[in-house]
Amino acid sequence: MDGGHNVFILLGPPSSGKGTQAVRICQNLGFVHLSSGDVFRQAIEEGTELGREAKRYIDAGELVPDGLTSKLMLQRLEAVSRQDRTPLLDGFPRTLQQAKLLRERLKELGISLRTVLYIDVSDEEIYRRAALRGRADDARETVARRLEVFRRQTLPAVDSYKTQGLLMAINGEQAIEAVEQEIMGALKARV
Ligand code: AMP
Repeated sequence: MDGGHNVFILLGPPSSGKGTQAVRICQNLGFVHLSSGDVFRQAIEEGTELGREAKRYIDAGELVPDGLTSKLMLQRLEAVSRQDRTPLLDGFPRTLQQAKLLRERLKELGISLRTVLYIDVSDEEIYRRAALRGRADDARETVARRLEVFRRQTLPAVDSYKTQGLLMAINGEQAIEAVEQEIMGALKARV
């Protein structure tokens, strides 16, 4: 594989199992996991200024502003690529503006976006999983808000990747191992 010159993206609605699958993909293929949600949760835990800022949005089920999110993720992406490693972006980009900023930076860096994996899960299943998981931002109203934000802000970005022929949809309503197998099968042709 062309180390450092490719990037992969993993997207999906809230509670689609992105994080779990991202870890597995990285273990299987040696990619470096870059999760925007993890970056924010870490900043919150550390009590940094960024953490305080991000927490307000996350607790409300809103997206953290594009500028802040993109700056953090693009810095990390660049660092990983410079080490000749392949980043897997988990949960970024989540808006058309983030997708645009990413596309511009990739062009500058000469990195090619190989594939956008999209884990597809129904709303009913998302509510069921959120109730089981009980994370702080998983209250029912917050989940409803996150789903609405997802539809309004993230689906247009997903659609644009579809139009560009980059999207591979994965059935996320299977056992974890079956989802992993479907992803690995889909990626085989692209890595
Ligand atoms: P996640 O763990 O991916 O579900 O992310 C948790 C929360 O972090 C989201 O509900 C958003 O509030 C925020 N977040 C994560 N990724 C992004 C992003 N790309 N843009 C804006 N906000 C984000």
